[in-house]
Amino acid sequence: MQFSDFAYVKPATLEEGLKLLQKSKGTAQILAGGTDVLFNMKMGLFQPETLINIKSLPELTNVEEQPDGTLRIGACCRLTDLIGHPLIAERYPALNKTIRGVASWHVRNMATIGGSLCLDTRCWYTNQSKEWRDAREPCFKTDGDICHVIKSSPDCVAINSSDSALILMVMDAHVTAAKVGTTRDIPLVDFYRDDGMDHTVLAPDEILTMITVPPCSDRLMFSKIAPREGLDFSLGAIAAGVTQSGDKVSAVKLVIGSLITQPLMLKNTAKIILDGGLGDDVIKSAAEHAVEEAGLLTNLYSLVAYKRELIKALVKRALTELRGD
Ligand SMILES: Cc1cc2nc3c(=O)[nH]c(=O)nc-3n(C[C@H](O)[C@H](O)[C@H](O)COP(=O)(O)OP(=O)(O)OC[C@H]3O[C@@H](n4cnc5c(N)ncnc54)[C@H](O)[C@@H]3O)c2cc1C
Ligand code: SF4
Repeated sequence: MQFSDFAYVKPATLEEGLKLLQKSKGTAQILAGGTDVLFNMKMGLFQPETLINIKSLPELTNVEEQPDGTLRIGACCRLTDLIGHPLIAERYPALNKTIRGVASWHVRNMATIGGSLCLDTRCWYTNQSKEWRDAREPCFKTDGDICHVIKSSPDCVAINSSDSALILMVMDAHVTAAKVGTTRDIPLVDFYRDDGMDHTVLAPDEILTMITVPPCSDRLMFSKIAPREGLDFSLGAIAAGVTQSGDKVSAVKLVIGSLITQPLMLKNTAKIILDGGLGDDVIKSAAEHAVEEAGLLTNLYSLVAYKRELIKALVKRALTELRGD
């Protein structure tokens, strides 16, 4: 696995980086921690003419709390720094736990939170070397016109495996995308697309600069199933939040990930809990409904039947944990 030639630039300011990105007209790629983008380049999945290293831009590496309790996290904060940040450790234990469970500490020492949200989608075909793939037809993602995972699929069904997206969606986070001369705010729940190839709404000339988390007093949790936690991507993951006054549940959020092309907010499943509470029977029926709400599942990384059971188990685990069992 070797790199082809590419140019490397390290802008001194965000503005300079945005101008370089705009000028490249889609031929440059953003480099943050590089744990995903460099691996994919070595695998020959894409070959940008230029890498624009934004990792050390001072505008993107701050964590701050606003007077109203809103948390702002710069997109290039390293995962390791976020785990060690006293504000996140003390006030956001579920976010801390989620980030702590992302990959190994070697990866977390390099990886950034923005990169973790923009992480490319994966499948067993693109996870192989170029030499291995060259023995087969190219797929949609490698300039072909088929999908090897689902032969009849008109689109790429590669999986989004970002763990941090799930908990941040439950926390109602939104992200700021900047391009030359302007910025826009995007609720994280609207950031992902149901398309393994073009999996976020970021435009080619935009940089994700900040993650904003509103004040949050819900009970939150995150859990995932991985063959070897700390090394492997999740086979399935869930983040959830519940607000309760007395026995009455007043808000529920459930987001599952690593199962389809995008993190999925289970709105109808949450409504079952909202209407029925957190009793055993209601949790059981919510877990069964979650499988239906997840829709079509592929056999990517595990069998469909296993994934269906996994969704049930994750929803049950999340709701019983939040109930306080
Ligand atoms: C062995 C291994 C195990 C892993 N296990 C897990 C796991 O369990 N859970 C999990 O969630 N993840 C896991 N990951 C993925 C890991 O979290 C990501 O590789 C990492 O977070 C990416 O961050 P980065 O800063 O290195 O991004 P990069 O590799 O630099 O970039 C990733 C992508 O995002 C784009 N990008 C990065 N920053 C920005 C920005 N600010 N604006 C616009 N685009 C941007 C890049 O252009 C690129 O397309 C694993 C990775 C490895 C290598
Ligand atoms: S899921 Fe996407 S990347 Fe994988 S083979 Fe199908 S088209 Fe290619």
